[in-house]
Amino acid sequence: MPIEEHQITTHELDYRCDSCGKGNLRPTGVMLLSDPPKWPHACTECGAQQTFDTKYPAFVYRRVDAGAAGQRLDY
Ligand SMILES: [Zn+2]
Repeated sequence: MPIEEHQITTHELDYRCDSCGKGNLRPTGVMLLSDPPKWPHACTECGAQQTFDTKYPAFVYRRVDAGAAGQRLDY
C-alpha cells in the first residue's frame, strides 16, 4: 500500500459549561471503567458536573487539502 503524505492542522475542542455559560469543563481526575470509558468533568466556574466519553479540551486534526470543513481525524 503506497504511503500518502498530507498537511494537517491541529484544533482544540473545548466544552463550555451548559449551566453557567462562563466556565469550561475539565476532567476531575476520575475515569469510569465503562465500555467505552467515560470521564467526569467539573466546571471551572460553577462546579457543575457532566460526564463525557472524551476528555476536554480535546485535540483533533484536519487535513488542509480537505478545506476548512475538512474531515476530522481522530488518533
Ligand atoms: Zn459552570
